[in-house]
Amino acid sequence: MKKDKSPGAHSWRTVVPLFLISLLILGCGLIRSGTPTQPSLPQEGTLTVLFLDIGQGDSILVLSPNGHTMLIDGGNSSKDADQVIVPTLKAHGYDRLDFLVATHPDQDHIGGLVAVLQEIPVKYAVFTGQEHTTQTYEAFLEEVSRLKNAGQLTPVKARRGVALDFDPALKVEVLGPGDDVVQTGDTNNASVVIRLTYKAVSFVFTGDAEDDEESWILSQGGDVRAQILKISHHGSKNGTGEAWLKAMSPEVAVISVGADNRYGHPSSQVIERLARRKIKIYRTDQQGTITVTTDGNSYQVSTEK
Ligand SMILES: [Zn+2]
Repeated sequence: MKKDKSPGAHSWRTVVPLFLISLLILGCGLIRSGTPTQPSLPQEGTLTVLFLDIGQGDSILVLSPNGHTMLIDGGNSSKDADQVIVPTLKAHGYDRLDFLVATHPDQDHIGGLVAVLQEIPVKYAVFTGQEHTTQTYEAFLEEVSRLKNAGQLTPVKARRGVALDFDPALKVEVLGPGDDVVQTGDTNNASVVIRLTYKAVSFVFTGDAEDDEESWILSQGGDVRAQILKISHHGSKNGTGEAWLKAMSPEVAVISVGADNRYGHPSSQVIERLARRKIKIYRTDQQGTITVTTDGNSYQVSTEK
């Protein structure tokens, strides 16, 4: 395992955006992630974010300072759930998820989510509800609906302005999408984009957002800066534009991508753009699972390979 120290002090603290209060829930009541069920963990007070190596696709596990858990996307298939996602969660001492986020209906993001929902308890499922008729997405909606009807899960409608009450130590805000794009057939640009902040350290998770959604989010104003940026759409040339990078001002870029994928991801243009800004690049195809740990003041990045 390799470890890198963060490049410097992270003194900037951000002005609290005003739109956080808006809380939209399809069910009822406030979103509360409840009392953690597991005993206190060795890493209490530490936020751990694992960018799991599931090949071409996304799956990110967030373990909060107070023992809450969130999964953002579920890889391609039940194999990713069975062999990577659930075992990694269990290896860290957890047997349930507080939040499960499906950024958008594409196979490489939701393929393993039904298996996750069937294998471990999940409290909240966060997704846009965009209409999309693939078998995988319909199976996901059906499973969410079944668990909701059984009183085991609450769906959360993901839109800009929603704040997820994940952990009192963290601020988790949905930056996108807006309502309008969800009505279109554009799945990538209706990705759920999340900014997560622990004291002075922020992450932005982008799904497969492309230039259109990046521009839209920037047009809405508010603080978007993040030291750690999950590069959107596996490094596709259709995203991670100059304006986006300027506004985010990241120090670390994580690209979740499969080796020798047929899409040519990540694009050399994006790699060059990041390199010009001296942003440190981590790639799951070359380094395996990438783990960022932080106490909210500084952060460390470690890689599996
Ligand atoms: Zn994707």
